Amino acid sequence: YPAYLAVAKMQKERAAMTSMHYALEAEKVHERLYLEAKKSVDNGEDYDIGDVHICDVCGFTAIDGAPDVCPICGAKRERFTVFTK
Ligand SMILES: [Zn+2]
Repeated sequence: YPAYLAVAKMQKERAAMTSMHYALEAEKVHERLYLEAKKSVDNGEDYDIGDVHICDVCGFTAIDGAPDVCPICGAKRERFTVFTK
């Protein structure tokens, strides 16, 4: 999944400048993505991750479309970067 690889790369680059709180919040989303993917695989389904929106400020990752305002740091939608498959 190219989009997911891009997410991993961006998170790595931002890790140094991201506060512990932000990193933990972003990590929860990644854990959810992983669990959903695993569940689909267990059920014999292909996991379709769709477009991934990542907050440019804190690294928050949204998979159901970018929110109007980042729930973690409050950045506006324009600050989100979109990764498509
Ligand atoms: Zn944010």
